[in-house]
Amino acid sequence: MDNCLFCKIAAQQIPATVVYEDDELLAFKDINPAAPVHLLIIPKRHISTLSDVQPEDTVVLGKMLALAPQLAAEHGVSVQHDADGTPRRGYKTLINSGPDGGQVVYHLHMHVYGGPRPWKGMH
Ligand code: 5GP
Ligand code: ZN
Repeated sequence: MDNCLFCKIAAQQIPATVVYEDDELLAFKDINPAAPVHLLIIPKRHISTLSDVQPEDTVVLGKMLALAPQLAAEHGVSVQHDADGTPRRGYKTLINSGPDGGQVVYHLHMHVYGGPRPWKGMH
């Protein structure tokens, strides 16, 4: 897509701090982090919003979701369990869709926020 910021990042026309790349996905650090760990996972192929997802996109959506815990682990924010099973730490995954959903960049992306309660005050 011409003039799409995240397509340009995927094409390496605009620099980003890339933390993961494969044939279908790219993950990079958010330029304006809202948490100690703030990553964005995108499909390399342009999809504007979650509402534009087609049945053939479900595999790449699944891969985006499955990448989140892998990146969380690599950035030290995995869910940990105490010896008695009590969960500790963790992260938040978020997809904003459309203006009412707070979407600013119209190339599908999943936020991964980690660190101590970065979502305090968020919904
Ligand atoms: P949205 O509100 O669309 O869900 O989130 C867009 C996110 O993209 C924001 O958190 C914003 O900080 C991030 N962002 C906007 N422009 C750039 C950029 O050029 N590079 C990177 N790495 N992140 C960006
Ligand atoms: Zn795009």
